[in-house]
Amino acid sequence: MNIKKIFSLVLIFSFAFFICTCSKNDEAKKIYKAGTYTASALGGNETELSLSVSFSDSEITDIRIIEHSESPGISDIALERIPKEIIEYQSLGIDAVSGATLSSKAIIKAVGKAVVQAGGDLESLLSKKIEREAIEKTPVELESDVVVIGAGGAGLAATVSAHQNGASVIVVEKMPNIGGNTIICGASYNAVDPKRQKALGIEDSIEKHYSQTYEGGDKLGKPEMIQTLVENAYPSIEWLESLGMEFKDTVFTVLGGLWPRAHKPKLPLGTGFISTYMNYIKGKKDIQVFVETKALELIKEDGRVVGIIAEGPQNIFTIKAKKGVIIATGGFSANIEMRDKYNKIWPSLTEMKTTNHKGAKGDGLLMAENIGANLIGLEHIQLLPMGDPKTGSLLGNIEQNVENRIFVNTDGNRFVDEGARRDVMTMALLKQKDALMYIILDSHSYPNKETKNNFNESMTDLLKKGKAVEANTLEELAKKIGVDANNLKKAVADFNKAVDMGKDKFGRTLYQDKINKAPYYAGARKPTVHHTMGGIEINSKTEVLDKNGNIIPGLYAAGECTGGIHGANRLGGNALADITVFGRIAGKNATNNNF
Ligand code: ADP
Repeated sequence: MNIKKIFSLVLIFSFAFFICTCSKNDEAKKIYKAGTYTASALGGNETELSLSVSFSDSEITDIRIIEHSESPGISDIALERIPKEIIEYQSLGIDAVSGATLSSKAIIKAVGKAVVQAGGDLESLLSKKIEREAIEKTPVELESDVVVIGAGGAGLAATVSAHQNGASVIVVEKMPNIGGNTIICGASYNAVDPKRQKALGIEDSIEKHYSQTYEGGDKLGKPEMIQTLVENAYPSIEWLESLGMEFKDTVFTVLGGLWPRAHKPKLPLGTGFISTYMNYIKGKKDIQVFVETKALELIKEDGRVVGIIAEGPQNIFTIKAKKGVIIATGGFSANIEMRDKYNKIWPSLTEMKTTNHKGAKGDGLLMAENIGANLIGLEHIQLLPMGDPKTGSLLGNIEQNVENRIFVNTDGNRFVDEGARRDVMTMALLKQKDALMYIILDSHSYPNKETKNNFNESMTDLLKKGKAVEANTLEELAKKIGVDANNLKKAVADFNKAVDMGKDKFGRTLYQDKINKAPYYAGARKPTVHHTMGGIEINSKTEVLDKNGNIIPGLYAAGECTGGIHGANRLGGNALADITVFGRIAGKNATNNNF
């Protein structure tokens, strides 16, 4: 064989090998049946999230969310980030967005269903680990007049107020989304209102709001703080209105609110508050909001707080505050260790769920304590009798107003004044079998099935999600929820008599309509951790106090991270008033600080 021949043979073999491996690779790359597939999964609000996924032979090329009822402001980041990451990494093994876990998981699950339709290997996609490059975080130094820690209702009120008073502001928020508990709450705001209450013929006064708050907290709240709260609650509604926020004309009694002075924003849940603040903040060059940025410690120099250290996804920030630092980090309802450490009043809370967002860990209390602040009232942890039995959330709660519903235990008997303080009702519920109760109400609360509850869910939604049960008679309702029908009928009959008399054996005083208008509805509820009344001690100017009662210069605190206002029990509807009133004060005083 001559050289030429050998060379040609080698060429032929290599070409054949090349063709062979090429077609084999092409085969290997064909992992999907190219096309677009639709799929859905149950999202964060127990409603379907549907999406479409487009595939080429070898890749997921596009994901589009078609329809969802995820919570606005909370799940937005998941809806944007998760599809992007699935495409970028061609994996379903990506991390959920913190604070929007259920929405993230719903997207991953629905994409997984589409992968199966396209003939892909779901298991390998789910188990494909993402190798993210380790980032060395670069140090960054920033400065503003005021630094706010936490972008919940208190922090954002403080931010806007500081800016209105002439300050530049930097806000750090550890979660990917802003809004804290405010954006997920039922949004009832207590204020003695000369306009709306008068139009509805409701008698009220600042003194009454004061005494109900003071006595409702077992006289443990500081009088100076309560006075500031009740006097400024209505002016703060007017302030919010001046920023463009709209409230409904109705005023009602919220659970444990003791009096019809709760206001409701026109937008659902607490989104009205947060969008109002964000509309103000948007485009202001001298307000910077950093999300996914966690404050780690306060910087104290010569006895004065002068800034914070915070950690973001790519940086370690040293942020100096020329005027003041405002802690607005919320309470510790989502911190099981802290709850267990301070709880002296309730049976064990270790297993109890919470209504709070998962960032409510008490960070601010610990940071403040580390530099000498005084913490007060930490044993006062508020439970609500209104948690979803599975999740502890307030979603799915069929209640409309206190006057028109009763609670029955699993025997079908009433067991408490349903207009009482929150701690009284929850303590009574904890003594019932399985600590489980049913809210019973009728069509006075839902004139039609599209009437929405305080969490923007219609009765149609609630029935679909299994949060409510409907029946045309009480007998049928009792059967559906598994309680004794005679007991339930008697409980309702006794209640209806009490509506006429204005009182009953439980001492209930709040009544409106009888429960006598079919269809009837029932919804199951359990105790849940809702609010921590204790926290950083402040004065009515929101200045933080040390263990000797002295002001710590440069440091302010507002909202649920503070203590000394609500005492042993917070009235329903007083939290939004608290965070708005004291957030505003903190913003103003931190700006006008002349230290
Ligand atoms: P409030 O009702 O008093 O405003 P929230 O709990 O609603 O309290 O809001 C507090 C906000 O502070 C939440 O958005 C929470 O994620 C944020 N936060 C808590 N700890 C930190 C921290 N260490 N750094 C930055 N933000 C924090």
